[in-house]
Parts: sequence; C-alpha cells; structure tokens
Amino acid sequence: MPLKVLAKPTEVQVLSFQWHKKGRSIGFVPTMGALHEGHLELVRQSRRENDVTIVSIYVNPLQFGPHEDYQQYPRVFDQDLALLRKEKVDLVYHPTNQEMYPKGFNTGVEVKGNVVQGLCAPFRPGHFNGVATVVVKLLEAVLPHKLYLGQKDAQQVAVLTRVVTDLDIPVTVVPCPIVREIDGLAMSSRNLRLSPIARGVAPVLYRALKVGRSIVQLGESDPKKVLGEIRKVIKTEKSVKLQYLEAVKLPDLEPAERIKSGTMIALAAYLDGVRLIDNILV
Ligand code: AMP
Repeated sequence: MPLKVLAKPTEVQVLSFQWHKKGRSIGFVPTMGALHEGHLELVRQSRRENDVTIVSIYVNPLQFGPHEDYQQYPRVFDQDLALLRKEKVDLVYHPTNQEMYPKGFNTGVEVKGNVVQGLCAPFRPGHFNGVATVVVKLLEAVLPHKLYLGQKDAQQVAVLTRVVTDLDIPVTVVPCPIVREIDGLAMSSRNLRLSPIARGVAPVLYRALKVGRSIVQLGESDPKKVLGEIRKVIKTEKSVKLQYLEAVKLPDLEPAERIKSGTMIALAAYLDGVRLIDNILV
C-alpha cells in the first residue's frame, strides 16, 4: 500500500475508523520529524506488533518555551517521508499549525503531581502541558491501539502514561529502549546542531551515567554519592553545562531516597547552547 500523507484530523479519523471496522490493529508513533534510527526503531516495533502503523510529524509550538529552539528545530519533511516510505509506514499525519490550533483554540491538558515536579519540568514551564495537549489531540485523530514512545524522553513517557490513564484514553503505552550512536550518545534530532567539537564531547553524558550505574552495582545506594561520582565524570569536560542530575523512582518519578534496581538516573546538559537529555535505568 502506498504511503498516504494527510493533514486534517478528520481525514485521519475517517481512515482510522475504516481500519478499526476491518479489525486492524493500529500502532502510532508521534514525532517532530528530522527522523533518525531512534525514531525508526519505534516505527519498526510498531510494524512488528500491528497491522497498520501511523506516524505523525509535527513540530508542536505549544511545547516550546519563548526562549527555546522552536524556530531552529530541524525540518526536513521530504527526507523524513523517504525514510518512512522505506519502512512501509501506512500513513503520515502532518498537520499544519492552522489545522492543529485553529483560530479560537482555547483548551489544554494540565498535568499535575509528581511526574511534573522534577527533571525537565522546572526548567521548561508549560512544556509537558504542551506535550500532553498535542498528544491527546493526535490520539483523538489517529485512534491507535498502541502508542510507541522512546525511553530517551523518559519523563514524557511517565507524563503520557499518567494522561492516558487519567483521561481513560483506550491506548496502551509501549515504552521503547534508547537508541544510541556507536560512541554512546543518545540519538536526537538536536545532535545535528552540535559543532564537531561538541559532538566529540557529548558521549561523556552516557559514559558518566554508566559510571553511576556501575557504582550502584558495586553496592552503593546513596543518591548523593552516586550522583556525585557522575558529576565528577561530567566535570572533566569543561564545556558541558549540567542543568540537572537526579535519581527518581518509576513510574511517577518521585525522588529516590536509595538507588536500587529499577531506579532511573536522568540528566539534562547544555553543549554549545544545545540542550541534550539522557537517562539510564539501574
Ligand atoms: P521527537 O521527534 O524528538 O519528539 O521524538 C519522537 C519519539 O521518538 C519520542 O517518543 C522520543 O522519545 C523517541 N526518540 C527520540 N530519540 C530517540 C532515541 N535515541 N531512542 C529511542 N527513542 C527516541
């Protein structure tokens, strides 16, 4: 079946209803485009587990702060389409801002509680409400059985799991493992904006997280000590500006009093003005 591209939520709904009627299972991968292997792994998993796979490409203005990189965010739609065609995706939903937030739009999803207390939330006010609002709208158009999300954005997974549970949205969240470059850097569309020097330095983030995990495996469970050792590794690279480093419990991301199996250690850092996030599960 040739790849379809639709821009209107109602058009997507019509197709989705037809697939539902035929008893087809639908997997959905929301993205902001500039696709890389991290995105494509989600697509492949969805293809393996469903009859139909829908991918959205939409850079959502609602989730960017006034001083964030909405304008600079990479947009390479034709290249993305070529990749998705190769992966045999069935439908790409590519709304415009006009379609997503028409004149008069005035409703939003507000997320509260532990999932939005720590990690990225205090540094990106409004971000997760913007994510929750757009993803609920995307889900209402696509009506998928399964929603594929990358663990790279672990807080996003926690928030959206909360949202679909709290709002009784009949979809199963499927968290997918982080895909990394050979040197350990978590793949991200934003890596394209790193200078060659910063790109060389960036793998220190994952190296440091792995050091933290090995210390835990050797028996240390005090977050102060473990995070302290991780910080030391990151400090060896002067150009890296650590924004936060936290150990949290899943699924709701409360701070961990002790680090043990299942605890997540997550960080955000600036390199060259580019904000990178990463995390590791102990
Ligand atoms: P984005 O286009 O950045 O909004 O990402 C779309 C989806 O791809 C999100 O669920 C991300 O968590 C996921 N994703 C992005 N990068 C990676 C990666 N390196 N590994 C796994 N999933 C990823």
